[in-house]
Amino acid sequence: MRPVPPDTAEARQAPESGIPGDDARQALRLRRYLIGAGTSFLVVVALFVCYWLGLLALNIAVGGAALIGFFVVLFYGLFRSGLNLRFGDPSLTAEMAAAGILTLAFVMYYAEPVRNALSLFYLVALMFGVLRLGTARLLALAAVAFVAHASVLALSGSLRGPGATEGWVQLATLAIALPWFATMGGYVNRLRRRLSDTNRQLKASAERAEQIAIRDVLTGVYNRRHLMDVLSREISRAQRRGAPLGVCLFDLDQFKQINDTWGHAAGDAVLKHFTSLAGGGLRAADVFGRFGGEEFLLVLPDTDAHWAAVVAERIRAGAERSAFPGVAAGHRVTVTIGVAGHARDESGDALIARADMALYRGKGAGRNRVVVG
Ligand code: GH3
Ligand code: MG
Ligand code: MG
Repeated sequence: MRPVPPDTAEARQAPESGIPGDDARQALRLRRYLIGAGTSFLVVVALFVCYWLGLLALNIAVGGAALIGFFVVLFYGLFRSGLNLRFGDPSLTAEMAAAGILTLAFVMYYAEPVRNALSLFYLVALMFGVLRLGTARLLALAAVAFVAHASVLALSGSLRGPGATEGWVQLATLAIALPWFATMGGYVNRLRRRLSDTNRQLKASAERAEQIAIRDVLTGVYNRRHLMDVLSREISRAQRRGAPLGVCLFDLDQFKQINDTWGHAAGDAVLKHFTSLAGGGLRAADVFGRFGGEEFLLVLPDTDAHWAAVVAERIRAGAERSAFPGVAAGHRVTVTIGVAGHARDESGDALIARADMALYRGKGAGRNRVVVG
């Protein structure tokens, strides 16, 4: 299938809703087609009302309905088979509007008494075009309607003889109304597009602002505020389900010395590298972030203290083995980790305080170790 540029905000958002973009756009086109088909049905109703009122011969009402039915089925087939995708504009809006206009012209050729009333439907066809078309193509459709109607009037002799004035008035009215609708429609279409673009930009800005609010500037991982939110949410969940919940509090060892020896930029590089070491290889449900300075926190749902310590030990050993950027080649960067498992009815602060106490003990016992609180 040829790639089709997204044509509305609705379609652009489609991938997020889990529907593949192309399918979503095709579904949108089908919805628009249904609007067109529904409108055509109303015209059929109008034709039979005219017949019922004695303004239209039965064979013309039936002929008009058959022509409308033919186009409705034709376009349905084009959309269903995917043949519409071969057109420059796969929505076929202009084609459907033109089909509507020509059908109207056909009926009007035989329906002199209701010509004035039915000519309103030209404007309906143009309004349908506003869903998709810009000013230029709406003006082209307006020209099609005008030429079609002028031909109808000329061929049926309405521009000559005693009734000619009425025909010319009809044409003059259309000559003003059709371009006016096309121009206004183009303007509305532009507004609509601008609005949907603005909406998209606003949404993107809001998402960016949200990310900025929950991320640490230096490392890009979650910040303390977000970690505390996650922790309280996970505590509620764990309490509800009677599931375990573990936390690991990390503190890089002798970090001040790294700054003092290799400079603040080296310290920053170490923090970033540690972030990628510790943050990689976690489960999707695990939440890792920077708690402050050279301290990090890992929240492990459905994990008791024992398994949290296993995860912590893996990270500790990984840091110890890893070469860090910014520091001398032989320098080992190590981390001490305090681990705690959530106890029933314990607050997030209390849980972290226990992990911090374990961490403190780990520092006292010589650093570069995991201690369970
Ligand atoms: P310990 O092993 O006991 O944890 O010793 P330490 O040196 O790691 O602990 P201390 O708390 O004395 O020092 C932490 C240092 O971390 C002090 C501070 O300047 C540094 N630091 C905090 N935030 C940043 C940062 O964003 N970038 C850099 N480069 N350093 C930071
Ligand atoms: Mg510290
Ligand atoms: Mg430290």
